[in-house]
Amino acid sequence: MADILKRNRQALGCELMLSTGVDEHGQKNQEAAQELGMPVEEYLDMRCAEFRDVFEKLGVEFDYFVRTSREGHKKAVAEMEQRIFDKGLIVKKQYTGTYCKGCEEFKKESDLTEDGQCPLHPTMQVEQTDETNYFLKMEPFREQLLKHIDDNPDFVQPESFRNELKKMLAEPLEDLCISRPKSRVTLGVELPFDTDFVTYVWFDALANYLTNIGWPEDGYQNWWAECEHMIGKDILKPHGVYWPLMLMAADLPLPKKLSVHSHWVGAGGVKMSKSIGNTVDPIEVMDKLGVDALRWYLARHMRADSDSQISVELIAQTYESELNNKLGNLLSRGAKFARKNFDGKLPVKGPLTAEDEALRQTVLDATAGMGEWIDLADIPARMQSIINAAAEMNNYFDKQAPWTLFKSEETKDRARDVVYVGLDCLRIVMEALQQVIPVSAGKALATLNVTDIARPWKPELDRLPGGSELDEIEPLFPRVQ
Ligand SMILES: [Zn+2]
Repeated sequence: MADILKRNRQALGCELMLSTGVDEHGQKNQEAAQELGMPVEEYLDMRCAEFRDVFEKLGVEFDYFVRTSREGHKKAVAEMEQRIFDKGLIVKKQYTGTYCKGCEEFKKESDLTEDGQCPLHPTMQVEQTDETNYFLKMEPFREQLLKHIDDNPDFVQPESFRNELKKMLAEPLEDLCISRPKSRVTLGVELPFDTDFVTYVWFDALANYLTNIGWPEDGYQNWWAECEHMIGKDILKPHGVYWPLMLMAADLPLPKKLSVHSHWVGAGGVKMSKSIGNTVDPIEVMDKLGVDALRWYLARHMRADSDSQISVELIAQTYESELNNKLGNLLSRGAKFARKNFDGKLPVKGPLTAEDEALRQTVLDATAGMGEWIDLADIPARMQSIINAAAEMNNYFDKQAPWTLFKSEETKDRARDVVYVGLDCLRIVMEALQQVIPVSAGKALATLNVTDIARPWKPELDRLPGGSELDEIEPLFPRVQ
């Protein structure tokens, strides 16, 4: 989704930086390396490569891949801590309580299930701890954050999560534990003011949003002023509560926006699990159906404010019924017909009928949204209107039936005009879809000899290079058994 938003904003002419990556500290990673008997650096390299690999296979054009083990990052985290410490907002005290290793977080009794387990990590036993640690005072900034949320309705989207966040901030906040004793955790950023402790993994990880753009050195400010975070709903609290309060404590401005999405669940709304066998392996899907089958499904069906269903079968069905039957089919019908009947060339524009103009208007309207700034929650509706337009384009072809028109001398020219209109509409759709399924859209545009696409992009008629030679037409979305 983030990659789609990046391509959308670039199509509008914006300079953009997409950063993603891995946080590498904490007890979980430390213990996982131990269990595998691996040196911790080697373990982290292996895990990092796995994530990077999936992003690369997905065609995610990230500009920066975060590794929180980077020296510059660690130095900047320590700097932020020192600044907050110097303001007297970090205190040392003893704490007795319940700890979830999965969340790397202390839990209140009200956070746990009836059996006393973490609802996010039911298979991991929570632990009782009795430790001295450093704590960030959050309460002094709570009202200020609530006011910021009220004054900036776009700060958290969609609205349901904005409301959830306001609920989290309705009651006084306890101090946030921001350290772990080295006797328990060694994999982390050492506290600059007490070397017996490392930094709480969330404090360290959240700081990445600033350290990636060069903070504390100058030059980060312009990026930061427009910065948007995109997160899953399970990490709303660290991003919506801890991070803004950390920034306020450090006298730094807040990011512009926090876009929150819900989760994927299996077909029928069943939670994914290995034992049920309804997990989706993105690599396997891409190997079988191609990267754009997966990208298209995600864009088409990811709802921001409610969970969405996914399965290999659903992805395959959508690939078949939409990408293959609606978009790929149109390209092969139109371009093959032109190649065979118009001297191997794309047709040139002729006189148009009211039906032609109606289809053209439908396609302009359906793609206009891709020439505008898109928010995360807008993506599925934009895809819906594009696929509706593609269905209209297919209906138009069936109804006009250029293959029949071509048989008679009197209507031969009309066949040419119909194919022109159909392919010019398909060109517009494929230009729009460069933001979503760039590989396939690029292939379709190359087939149609479309090379130069204006930026800022908006849908425009009659840019099909009529009269240019067509190469052999390859199927855009080949049928898969
Ligand atoms: Zn947990």
